[in-house]
Amino acid sequence: MNANHEGLAPASILVSAGRQPRIPGAGLNAPLELSSTYVADGPVDYARAGNPTWTAFEEALGALEGGSALVFSSGMAAIAAALSIAPQGAIIVVPTHAYTGTGLMLESLEKAGRAILRRVDISDTTAVIAALEGADVLWAESPTNPMLEVADLPRLCEAAHKVDALVLCDNTFATPLIQQPLSMGADVVVHSVTKYLAGHSDVVLGAAVTADTDRGRRLHEALAQHRLLHGAIAGPMETWLALRGMRTMHLRVERSSANAAVLAARLQGHPAVERVRYPGFGSIIAIEVLGGLEGAETVAAKVRLWTHATSLGGVESLIERRRRHPAEPPTVPDNLLRLSVGVEDVEDLWRDLGAALAHQIPSG
Ligand SMILES: *Cc1c(COP(=O)(O)O)cnc(C)c1O
Repeated sequence: MNANHEGLAPASILVSAGRQPRIPGAGLNAPLELSSTYVADGPVDYARAGNPTWTAFEEALGALEGGSALVFSSGMAAIAAALSIAPQGAIIVVPTHAYTGTGLMLESLEKAGRAILRRVDISDTTAVIAALEGADVLWAESPTNPMLEVADLPRLCEAAHKVDALVLCDNTFATPLIQQPLSMGADVVVHSVTKYLAGHSDVVLGAAVTADTDRGRRLHEALAQHRLLHGAIAGPMETWLALRGMRTMHLRVERSSANAAVLAARLQGHPAVERVRYPGFGSIIAIEVLGGLEGAETVAAKVRLWTHATSLGGVESLIERRRRHPAEPPTVPDNLLRLSVGVEDVEDLWRDLGAALAHQIPSG
């Protein structure tokens, strides 16, 4: 973390971090540096090892999370790098519900005999702590995708460190505006930058962030080495767009969270909605609708302002039945629709969703 940002609120960090030095005539924004190689004898000689656009993005995200960031080509690339820290044959405690790509990657490690998985409900603190006995790594995601279970991160990190287990945490859903896992004891935070950080559904990008401690710096070195050698590096254009998107993240998240709170309250008790999952913060809501799988598909097909699409965290509101994806575990209900609430007018969103849900209200 750059000392210049210490003591600043997230909104000020988002606007001011990762800027150019204030030299007369310098541009305000970081350059979009499109060079694969650099004149010899500088700090970086080849662009797989470093790029000024990355540095600007990393400075901003690092300041926001309270650590040091590394940008990757996607959230999955950052997750792969983080999991590469786990020793061969590691015992990894993992949430039953997590991002599907993470679940598939963990499963492939298990099948290859490279890891032993212990699956837990991440919101059941007692169960997670019991599972940590003799474990090497805790993979945390909170709130979870798409069930929105919330982990007690400070207690889990404390318990993990007691048994010398690393804590790797996917902070995509909460964003660093709502939760800063490094300050709660996590060792590595990963992000799908694709979602709230970039915020405009126009890039795929990821990041990993480590604490500014001796242990954190060692992990940072290992992650940087993984990026350099495995080569899952971010495109400068994507990185530049993500930093541009981040400048307004606090405004987007504030509005989408306010919209989500209004919608969650109205969905509760709606005659076509069997259950609402909403952690009380953020802008993702999961609803179970009447009419099972077909009912949920009908609602997703009938919306006009909302878009039926996967992904989340952009300015536009998206809706998706998660079990469309075969990788989503059967414990996720068939009729569960994940809503990624955007920054549109909340009354327009409600009218559109309400009209789609009306198709599922039993007549008579
Ligand atoms: C989308 C997502 C990912 C994967 O990120 P990509 O940028 O798509 O590779 C990881 N974790 C969570 C929670 C996500 O929502």
